[in-house]
Amino acid sequence: MERRKLLLALAAAPLAFTRLCAHAQAKTMKDIEALQKNWKSFLPAGASVPAAGEALKLSKDEWRKRLPNDLAYKVLREEATERAGSSALNDEKRAGIYACAGCGLPVFTSEMKFESGTGWPSFFTTIPGVFDIKKDFYLIYPRSEYHCKRCGGHHGHVFDDGPPPTNQRWCNNGVSLKFIPKDGQA
Ligand SMILES: [Zn+2]
Repeated sequence: MERRKLLLALAAAPLAFTRLCAHAQAKTMKDIEALQKNWKSFLPAGASVPAAGEALKLSKDEWRKRLPNDLAYKVLREEATERAGSSALNDEKRAGIYACAGCGLPVFTSEMKFESGTGWPSFFTTIPGVFDIKKDFYLIYPRSEYHCKRCGGHHGHVFDDGPPPTNQRWCNNGVSLKFIPKDGQA
């Protein structure tokens, strides 16, 4: 490679890296607060979404009818876990909102997502006030299970080995999420 071309390539590298890792731009807790505050800017124009306070309570039969398939029912209503790598949302890179697949409550924005390498969609923070957390003991050690504040649907587990500054890894079942692209094209 010519020296000039090499220099140009080196100069371009940090920018490309920043684009690859959306979270690289959130360096301080102030950046995280800004991401949490501006989540509505990721909604398509004119979209109307429910709020966490508008509780959605349905019977088991009603949930079976409402949810698209058996896996969604098992994960959201019975706290099952989808197979790693099985969700198309692992590779979703567009700008938009991740809403609860059970009730439509917006829970994450695309800028809160990062590539964890686990095979599940992963996020380093959430839209504020959308999840309740409880400890479960399905494995030998306690884990923090979180579920949707509006419909009680199970989403995943939160761990403390995520990227700084939050160090949180919200490990979410893809089947519990519905992606709403900002440009309105599903
Ligand atoms: Zn929900």
